[in-house]
Amino acid sequence: MKIIAIGRNYAEHIAELQNERPTEPVVFLKPDTALLKDNAPFYHPSFSQDIHHEVELVLRICKEGKHIEPEFAHKYYDQIGVGIDFTARDLQSELKAKGLPWEKAKAFNGSAPVSGFLPMEHFPDKQHIDFGLKVNGEWRQQGNTSLMLYDFDYLVAHVSHYFTLKTGDLIFTGTPKGVAAVKVGDRLQAYIGEECLLDFEVK
Ligand code: MG
Repeated sequence: MKIIAIGRNYAEHIAELQNERPTEPVVFLKPDTALLKDNAPFYHPSFSQDIHHEVELVLRICKEGKHIEPEFAHKYYDQIGVGIDFTARDLQSELKAKGLPWEKAKAFNGSAPVSGFLPMEHFPDKQHIDFGLKVNGEWRQQGNTSLMLYDFDYLVAHVSHYFTLKTGDLIFTGTPKGVAAVKVGDRLQAYIGEECLLDFEVK
């Protein structure tokens, strides 16, 4: 499986990092070794002093497809979960300044904790899904899909023009504002609506 991630999909997050608003989705990949499941702890890597949490809704692909049109995109994902796109912000800033790829900052081991998934029936209105992240019991990030620049169907269609989607692939759909550094001992809890679906510790 592969993890496809979308950057800069929420305007207020673009503003907090002083990035430019994209004219098409910003896309990057994480390998399967980035995946953390079953509330496994995240081990803070030693190569970064500034690992940021980015809470994101995650689509699970249920059918192989490429060159998908947006009006058919909903047929290609059947579940939504929540995950953290961990980012070594210090490394990413260096790489961005040099015009180099982001993988060392975004795709390292354990950089993609993911919750269990909820079926689409759970989401009568995909354009208004609340989600968020608590760190040590305090809200750090709260988002709603109405604030996305590119919606789920647009994203699935867009990435399928570059990468064949396969069953089990995951798409991270971008983070709202409020990203910040984590430290050893932090407890992260990610929510969809009122439900805490992901709960793990930084070690
Ligand atoms: Mg992200």
